Amino acid sequence: MNINIPEYVMEVLKRLRGGGYEAYVVGGCVRDSILGLKPDDWDVCTEAEPDEMKSCFIGLRSVDTGIQHGTVTAVSEGKPVEVTTYRIDGTYSDGRHPDGVTFTRSLREDLARRDFTINAMAYDPEQGLIDPFGGRDDLKREVIRCVGDPDKRFSEDALRILRALRFASRLGFAIEDATERAVRGMAETVRVVARERVGVEFVKLLLGKDAAAILCSYREELRKAGVFPMADKAVLAHINELPCRPAERLAVLFPENLKRALRDLRLDHRTIDRSAAMQEALQNPVPAGSAGVRRLLMNFGEDAARGMLEIRKVYPDLYYKEAETAGAAEDADGEGRSDQAGGTRADGIQAGGTPEDAAGALDELERVLKSGEVWNLKQLAVTGKDMIEVGIPQGRLVGEALKTLLSLVIDGKAENNREELRETAHSLFCTGNLW
Ligand code: ATP
Ligand code: MG
Repeated sequence: MNINIPEYVMEVLKRLRGGGYEAYVVGGCVRDSILGLKPDDWDVCTEAEPDEMKSCFIGLRSVDTGIQHGTVTAVSEGKPVEVTTYRIDGTYSDGRHPDGVTFTRSLREDLARRDFTINAMAYDPEQGLIDPFGGRDDLKREVIRCVGDPDKRFSEDALRILRALRFASRLGFAIEDATERAVRGMAETVRVVARERVGVEFVKLLLGKDAAAILCSYREELRKAGVFPMADKAVLAHINELPCRPAERLAVLFPENLKRALRDLRLDHRTIDRSAAMQEALQNPVPAGSAGVRRLLMNFGEDAARGMLEIRKVYPDLYYKEAETAGAAEDADGEGRSDQAGGTRADGIQAGGTPEDAAGALDELERVLKSGEVWNLKQLAVTGKDMIEVGIPQGRLVGEALKTLLSLVIDGKAENNREELRETAHSLFCTGNLW
């Protein structure tokens, strides 16, 4: 077993070893290296306590990330390496935080506090792999298994229940029987865990290669864990066909109270807003042709429009609201369509749109964006200042007028030409025939 440790991490190991202390790379980076995946980050564990570590890091920048838990971040060649003293976690009387941690000089004890066998391996180039709990075998067998008794380990820290699902999803592994029984039996205890920790693990679960299978199989447990309202299994089963991005997947996952569910998981505002915009856009039919696509872009922006079409390729009818859309079409172009609500429309667009329609619209969207065809207010040849100059009173009406002009340009009813648009604005809004 040979792991290729980057030079900047070797530097940290060498310094600790040079100071007379044991030091190993440990956890996720060892697991991912054995699997042939590129580790996100490299963690080091050592018998040195923080003060002792720091005496080895003279000349390197170091940050006291969590001194009381034994963690110091060494900055080597500009990259951070988290170095943590071997430790035994105390009891978790609240199921959230260890009541206290005790440093130890035993690597084995440090590995024993880790969650799963595949995460409880350490490595250094001289001694090779240190694997007291059979992590390498479990990697071969593709199994997630707790280190020690699963009930005990989950009652120390209930987040591990969700971590088991996240690693199963990410790696496509099975969950070993006793660990699975404990996941199912103790799911409710995840509710005591800080919500931001739940959110982080849940999003990782959602992006895993086996997300669909895990979400379907553990839908009820996730509900008990406080992750809901979640879509039906028929919807969950296709989640991996969506792009591997949080916003698209979340928009599909929570059919009701999406924003509330995502805020509750303490996700960032950008993800919440993107996801909500996609869900709203899905209430509309798949647009046909350049004008339809540009109208979708105008109403929802580039990101949500693209996300909506990506979702529509997989889910032809999800969230589509026939009646309301017919109403919106009436507002936009003044032609009554409510008589067609509820069925196939005269223009041949059915329900939300077929996957082929969505794929075609997505191609059209990329073409429109490249071609520079007008779809947003910034591209319009007139500005708010022009509107005021032609006599529209300052305030909300200026924005309304610009949007109307943009619609006319998109529909080919006006040219994107400053003089022409100023005249149109004047005759529409300042001669008393509209408001
Ligand atoms: P990733 O590649 O997603 O970062 P990781 O295994 O590195 O996966 P981290 O959350 O970064 O996961 O944790 C680093 C290591 O710390 C884990 O591999 C595991 O050994 C240990 N660990 C993390 N969280 C827990 C926990 N809640 N209980 C026990 N051990 C944990
Ligand atoms: Mg990690």
